[in-house]
Amino acid sequence: MDQCSRTFRLIDEAWKTLSDDSLRRKYDAELSASELHNIHPVQEEISLSSAFYNSELEQYEKDCRCGGKYILSETEICNELILVDCDNCSLSIIIDCTASEISKTSNS
Ligand SMILES: [Zn+2]
Repeated sequence: MDQCSRTFRLIDEAWKTLSDDSLRRKYDAELSASELHNIHPVQEEISLSSAFYNSELEQYEKDCRCGGKYILSETEICNELILVDCDNCSLSIIIDCTASEISKTSNS
């Protein structure tokens, strides 16, 4: 297959994708996911247990190298990976909450 017909095939596929509603939604979702990744350069991935728990403000904190803080409110915690933005710069970290058992849930 020469370059021209390969290019045509790509355009053809792109057109089919855009003309199909469900495919387009999938395409948009994938696109925004990768855009999100570009907008938020992920610095590192930490576990919730390695973040500092501020019991006064009921939030988890992690120092950013810029001097700012990554802040995760206790109410935001769910059993998954959470993307947290620095409050001072454009960096982000992922806090892994999947492994952590929130002791709050057991009320004994
Ligand atoms: Zn920062």
